[in-house]
Amino acid sequence: MAQAQLQTPNPPQTPTQTRGYDYDLVIVGGGIVGLTLASALKDSGLSVLLVEAKVESAAVAKGQAYAVHMLSALIFQGIGIWNKILPNIETYRRVRLSDADYPSVVEWETKDINTKDLGYVAEHQALLHPLQEFVKNCPNVTYLCPAQVLNIQYQQDVVTMDVKIADQMQTVRSKLIVAADGSRSPIREAAGIKTRGWKYWQSCIVAFVKPEKPHNNTAYEKFWSSGPFAILPLPGNRCRIVWTAPHEEAKALCALDDEQFLTELSKRYGNQMGKLELLGDRFIFQVQLMQSDRYALHRLALIGDAAHNCHPVGGQGLNLGIRDVAALAQVLQEADTQGEDIGNIQVLKRYERWRQRENLTILGFTDLLDRMFSNNILPIVIVRRLGLWMMQRIPLVKVFALKLMIGLKGRTPKLAQH
Ligand SMILES: Cc1cc2nc3c(=O)[nH]c(=O)nc-3n(C[C@H](O)[C@H](O)[C@H](O)COP(=O)(O)OP(=O)(O)OC[C@H]3O[C@@H](n4cnc5c(N)ncnc54)[C@H](O)[C@@H]3O)c2cc1C
Repeated sequence: MAQAQLQTPNPPQTPTQTRGYDYDLVIVGGGIVGLTLASALKDSGLSVLLVEAKVESAAVAKGQAYAVHMLSALIFQGIGIWNKILPNIETYRRVRLSDADYPSVVEWETKDINTKDLGYVAEHQALLHPLQEFVKNCPNVTYLCPAQVLNIQYQQDVVTMDVKIADQMQTVRSKLIVAADGSRSPIREAAGIKTRGWKYWQSCIVAFVKPEKPHNNTAYEKFWSSGPFAILPLPGNRCRIVWTAPHEEAKALCALDDEQFLTELSKRYGNQMGKLELLGDRFIFQVQLMQSDRYALHRLALIGDAAHNCHPVGGQGLNLGIRDVAALAQVLQEADTQGEDIGNIQVLKRYERWRQRENLTILGFTDLLDRMFSNNILPIVIVRRLGLWMMQRIPLVKVFALKLMIGLKGRTPKLAQH
């Protein structure tokens, strides 16, 4: 609704204001996860303030793309935004998983789970832009961008904060603050929530290429001993590469000129799509595993990267964040309908219990995959190749692994049930 100007969502007086709150909840961080939560609450009757620090154009301009899993697509459908996203993203209908040059390849197709598609790949702006437009049309959401939340004070009945817009400061009172402010989450840090995890010995290079032959809507995950190497199809017969390698190797690869980089890339890519053309810049990302000890305190909830980070193998991080959103939106709406205080820890613990364990399973699975495949230790090579052989031949194992990776194994939120 509003931008760069603080106003109440339903002037002159909402029930929230009469009880001494300016908003029912304040979401800090207008990345994909924060925007998705504001969108998911559009019919909740809750008044929402969404605050993003970057200017809109800068927030959109991120050289990233994501595998979007089936459950995330169902959640976006439930919110009513999928029809704005789908035309600008690509579908994948086949996934091929292989261990370096070992000839036995595990292949999943749509018939394995009786769906039209297996998943999608979206560039950052193809998700962020429609979400930004969507929240501007939610009458219960006030969208402040760019703005910053400072000086948060938690009290028994209220959380108070200063919101800085340009050089003006305004105090806001709310029942709940939701931190969707990314992996470094200043809000999580200031609240003293501890995290566990580690930084990986690998970095991740993200690049975009145009192959000579059609990508045929196929996603590849190739496990080289230096790290996983993913090829994901994008619109316009482009592909996104996520190439994991030890830090020094990744830095050296990024420093190569385009021609040398393409030569190295082609060795890992294989020749299934013919000659490759490099498109635009390459980006390098640090990767870590991180789980917050708490996802909720009295009047505070963490979602998305503020709560957890994982290795990019299998494209899980954002998808876990979207599942956090669906779970939190459901918990808050049910609590509010029953007349409960949405910022109360007893309510927020329902969200924490739901999501913390499910996320930990995926964090553990991605870590195991990376460690099992990123080495040449003979007994481990034998075990993992046996695992791949079993997965290819035992349909139950194969379908279980796929469903786990695309989010169809946990508790299904109401937003995805339609
Ligand atoms: C190489 C790589 C590949 C990946 N591939 C995939 C993939 O294929 N699929 C997938 O699901 N995930 C993937 N991920 C993970 C994914 O990128 C993240 O999980 C996701 O971007 C997190 O989104 P978020 O909205 O939680 O956080 P962010 O995108 O970090 O957004 C946080 C927002 O909060 C704002 N902010 C911060 N502090 C404040 C403040 N004080 N006030 C206001 N605003 C603030 C920031 O400006 C930002 O816009 C990948 C990650 C990497 C590194």
